[in-house]
Amino acid sequence: MKEVYTFGDLQDWRESGGADEPPIRLSVLGDPVAHSKSPQMHNAALRACGLAAGYARLQIHPSELERAVPLLMRNDFIGTNVTIPHKAAMLGLMDEVDEHARKIGAVNTVVIRDGKLRGYNTDGPGIVRALRAEFGVELRDLRVLILGAGGGAGRAIAVQCALEQCERLVLTNRTFAKARLLADELAPYFETPRVTAVPPDLETLRAQLPHIDLVINASASGMQNTDPSPLPAAVLPQHLLIYDTIYGAHRTALLRAADEAGIRSANGLSMLLHQGALSFEIWFDRPAPIEQMRAALLA
Ligand code: NAP
Repeated sequence: MKEVYTFGDLQDWRESGGADEPPIRLSVLGDPVAHSKSPQMHNAALRACGLAAGYARLQIHPSELERAVPLLMRNDFIGTNVTIPHKAAMLGLMDEVDEHARKIGAVNTVVIRDGKLRGYNTDGPGIVRALRAEFGVELRDLRVLILGAGGGAGRAIAVQCALEQCERLVLTNRTFAKARLLADELAPYFETPRVTAVPPDLETLRAQLPHIDLVINASASGMQNTDPSPLPAAVLPQHLLIYDTIYGAHRTALLRAADEAGIRSANGLSMLLHQGALSFEIWFDRPAPIEQMRAALLA
């Protein structure tokens, strides 16, 4: 199996991925996609379940997306995961879209069944399972502050919070207008006014923290080892939980601040794992082999 397949490979699939053993029938489709850990996780799951199918990376430029999707069908794909920057555009290419994905406005999982493309989003449900596994908590019981609520992941998590009617939802984002728009959009989900947007300056965030149980970082800030923490250790109260959706090998500055403050925290590996497990369940209608998938991610 190649590290990355291209649109050209998809056009000539019988000579490329289709001829691989086991034949590639699942993928993560994105641009860039070379960094994705999904193949190691899903190939371990496929092997553990004795399923004769491979999972590969597909590097697809936005200008190729519309032509790439019918090729998946023609080449007998079971489905695909979808990542940056295609999640929103994929929604418009589906025959049917799950209600949850429609509310999020993005598709991260496609299943091809009976000649039809059906789109789902497992990012929101994935973080619910991740928080349960990491902290033993239910999202719906928590007062949540989301950093980076203007991005794709932040939006998926915020919609999930709204669907679960969590106790309180505070949204912030570097571009503040995006957080405010999202707060307005989500307000009708709550019976009482419990969602608000606040500017991302430290003093404002600090004033929120005594009334927050869980901070979720869904911003891209932190991906570089040198990125500063949005919240220094000194402002983190002892009751706070921190979940950073970033899942690189390094501990982000936010997670290091949590360590320094002596509070509980987790990185995004569990969200990656559980959104992947939910995709597997959609494709195969059976429980995912979570432990083998986790081991493959940590290998
Ligand atoms: P995205 O749609 O491009 O959104 C990026 C977000 O980060 C925006 O809110 C953006 O704010 C903010 N941002 C970027 N640079 C920043 C900076 N220097 N300071 C403050 N905010 C900044 O990306 P995405 O797909 O949502 O991904 C965001 C993060 O989620 C990434 O770190 C990714 O690793 C993580 N993620 C994790 C999982 C998982 O399974 N664990 C899944 C998906 C994503 P503006 O609106 O102001 O530009």
